[in-house]
Amino acid sequence: MFRALVVDRDAGGATHAAVRRLEERDLPEAEVTVAVAHSTLNYKDALCMGSGGGMVRVWPHVPGIDLAGVVEASGDPRYRPGDRVVLTGWRVGENWWGGYSERARVRADWLVPLPEGMTTRQAMAVGTAGFTAMLALMALEEQGLSPDQGEVLVTGAAGGVGSVAVALLAGQGYSVAAVTGRPGTEPYLRALGAARIIPRAELAETVAKTLESEIWAGCIDNVGGAMLARVLGQMKAGASIAAVGLAGGTELPAKVSPFILRGVNLLGINSVLVPYERRVRAWARIARDLPMDKLEAMTQDCGLGDLPELGQAILRGEVRGRVVVDVT
Ligand code: NDP
Repeated sequence: MFRALVVDRDAGGATHAAVRRLEERDLPEAEVTVAVAHSTLNYKDALCMGSGGGMVRVWPHVPGIDLAGVVEASGDPRYRPGDRVVLTGWRVGENWWGGYSERARVRADWLVPLPEGMTTRQAMAVGTAGFTAMLALMALEEQGLSPDQGEVLVTGAAGGVGSVAVALLAGQGYSVAAVTGRPGTEPYLRALGAARIIPRAELAETVAKTLESEIWAGCIDNVGGAMLARVLGQMKAGASIAAVGLAGGTELPAKVSPFILRGVNLLGINSVLVPYERRVRAWARIARDLPMDKLEAMTQDCGLGDLPELGQAILRGEVRGRVVVDVT
């Protein structure tokens, strides 16, 4: 028997999450059984636990899009009992039972060996949010971004992806401008390395001109919507935006002028379906380049039973930085 946070749905369509005891035979069929040590809370987890169910279609369901732990049993030659592994993406926690459980059974293809020297707790402090921030930075650098080109903007900066993005960029020598709707997070964002704080309201205003002064050498955008449209018009010629999130909306009320008159690039980031080699490369760079003291400063811990309430808080935009779930 082992403990898991199980979400069930009643006949009226209402969902209920509770910590329950499960048996090995309840787990889905796959090659690798992992003794999960830590998981994490992302915006998407909150959707999967909440009343709408996110992308969950079958109940009862065990959420948790990220997990890190130790292989307990493996029918795949790439993994042996005792190996330390991390998993993000692949719709685990959405259409497959996820990391909010002391045991998980998953496909070997979805796993990555935990980088040398990184703990399962650190890996989950990174989680999908931090992994995505690294993918965004890699995408920007592949377009030629370097610290000498000027300021890099991070929107939704005090959230999970935003916090890791700020720490990563600053750690790599970039001058970071952080957009936040929570003025009280300024000391926190400055401690992560932000050189400038921009109030959300400043970029939420719509302006008549599509093209404004060229300000940003790059951008990691977690917000989408009208803010992304506005930022497009403030990018330097040839600069790129990594489009990560939709915390401010899925619409993009933009004009094509930034693309065709300034050669601005909009780079889509999808952390869910990343080929193995790129996942390994991203995790290796996280282990090397993300300042672990900054990661610690942005992380809070919780247990399985705290998740439903914290899920509501992240949906209200009230969670700062990263939440690690101690599953054991
Ligand atoms: P969080 O909730 O931790 O952070 C989102 C942040 O966005 C908030 O903290 C807040 O920052 C800001 N924000 C919230 N609402 C609004 C609003 N209405 N207008 C402007 N800003 C707002 O979520 P995550 O960091 O985990 O994820 C960020 C986004 O990225 C989400 O949309 C998520 O779905 C997406 N995502 C996408 C991935 C991909 O593969 N493309 C992977 C991971 C996440 P502040 O308080 O500083 O203003």
